[in-house]
Amino acid sequence: MDKHFDFISKEEEARIIQAIEEAEDHTSGEIRIHIEKRAGKNPVERAKEVFNILHMDETKDRNGVLIYVGTEDHSFAIIGDKGINDRVESHFWEDTKELILTHFKNKQFCDGLVQGVLHVGLRLKSYFPYQEDDIDELPNEISRG
Ligand code: CA
Ligand code: CA
Repeated sequence: MDKHFDFISKEEEARIIQAIEEAEDHTSGEIRIHIEKRAGKNPVERAKEVFNILHMDETKDRNGVLIYVGTEDHSFAIIGDKGINDRVESHFWEDTKELILTHFKNKQFCDGLVQGVLHVGLRLKSYFPYQEDDIDELPNEISRG
């Protein structure tokens, strides 16, 4: 048994990664998901820490987005880098969070993350359209703490 959780299965993880790839096919922005047991503090503060640990603050256009999940203390946060926050309306993150948590409440963790990733991807696309020479600056995989 995975020491962390049965939060999402291997198959579901593959679906989520597929959603990240799909989103990043249309934008230069970078989306990542980090899952760990507990934030141990304000989830947004923890998400900011993880953002830096994962070097997400080093993208060229400062357009990384991190979806953070603490499975045991039910913590959740979604944050974006400066390049996005300069453009996006302030309630965008709240709206996206709500969209994801609606699924989480029904224990549809995979669906919530997939929907969240695609939702963020559409918005990123409008600000940071895919460029011919785009580089995948951050790996399309779920990071675990
Ligand atoms: Ca990219
Ligand atoms: Ca990526």
